Amino acid sequence: MKWIDLRSDTVTEPTEEMLDAMRSAIVGDDVYEDDPTVKLLEKKSAAILGKESSLFIPTGTFGNQLALLTHTNRGDEVIIPGSNHIVLYEVGAASVISGVQLRTLKDNLGQINLNELESLHRRKNIHFPKTGLICMENAHTSGTVVPIENMVKVYNYAKSKNIPVHLDGARIFNASIALNLKPDIIAKYSDSVMFCFSKGLCSPIGSILAGGKAFIRKARRNRKLMGGGMRQTGYIAAACLISLDKMANRLNEDHKNAKYLAKQLKKMKIFGIIRNRLDINMVFFKLEIRDFNEKKFINYLKKYKIKINPSYYGEFRFVTHYWITKEKIEFLISIIKKYIKESRTV
Ligand SMILES: *Cc1c(COP(=O)(O)O)cnc(C)c1O
Repeated sequence: MKWIDLRSDTVTEPTEEMLDAMRSAIVGDDVYEDDPTVKLLEKKSAAILGKESSLFIPTGTFGNQLALLTHTNRGDEVIIPGSNHIVLYEVGAASVISGVQLRTLKDNLGQINLNELESLHRRKNIHFPKTGLICMENAHTSGTVVPIENMVKVYNYAKSKNIPVHLDGARIFNASIALNLKPDIIAKYSDSVMFCFSKGLCSPIGSILAGGKAFIRKARRNRKLMGGGMRQTGYIAAACLISLDKMANRLNEDHKNAKYLAKQLKKMKIFGIIRNRLDINMVFFKLEIRDFNEKKFINYLKKYKIKINPSYYGEFRFVTHYWITKEKIEFLISIIKKYIKESRTV
């Protein structure tokens, strides 16, 4: 990657090793269930998550929506933190694809308050929809991880009421490192879990939905319904296998780099780092000064082949990943310092 691209970890392009593996992959037609590379990936992914079975899918959004469709019936209600990806960034798909209604919990960085959950759970009444599913997200899009204790409580409550739990674990390997718990320990407190290969794990495409045997059998049929029955996907799965073997266990580096970057930005005095959201590979900050020309700043960085996203309601996010080495972070810091110096002298 020629650019220093801090917009997201989704921008990670595959490594040479991945491209070689893709080129020489042994493939079949996965709708006929005879692509050996996909089968191996599904087997390994299920094992890592401690689930019986898993299914290779095109994207994280696809996986979440497939889980909703497979767990629920039309008209059900899904209880979910209002700040979760399924609510904020999936185009309202839950209502279009599954015909369910999302009942949101207050924003608490992905954690669920048990009293609030209990108050939203539907009792039997002719007026009420049925509570069909509870969703959690770990790591959470806010840059935090949900403590395992919270997941245990939610799961135990859900089981006592016979409600399934789906975990959006797009970045479960980041959560695993930040919580110092193996992925299967986190996934244990859910009936289904989705994670992405296409983020910090560096693969170009792909996600996994894992769960019990019967659930995945049903999901396989629903995946076809949603148009996600793919053919020689072994070419992609070959890269994803390298993600599991080589990328999942190096994410600590990205977390360390994010913390280092946060520390250096803080020293410059004008960036207010949001410190309670520094659990994974993301640095969130606000500007401490008023007269800051955001457009000029972004364009200045672009001249040095650095890409960042514009602020979102005044909040910036820098994301570290495989291609953002310590050296690149040093370079970024030097360019930001240069910008501050220049914009104050002119
Ligand atoms: C990225 C992400 C998704 C969706 O993944 P896509 O592959 O972009 O559809 C879902 N949930 C979370 C928490 C994510 O960060």
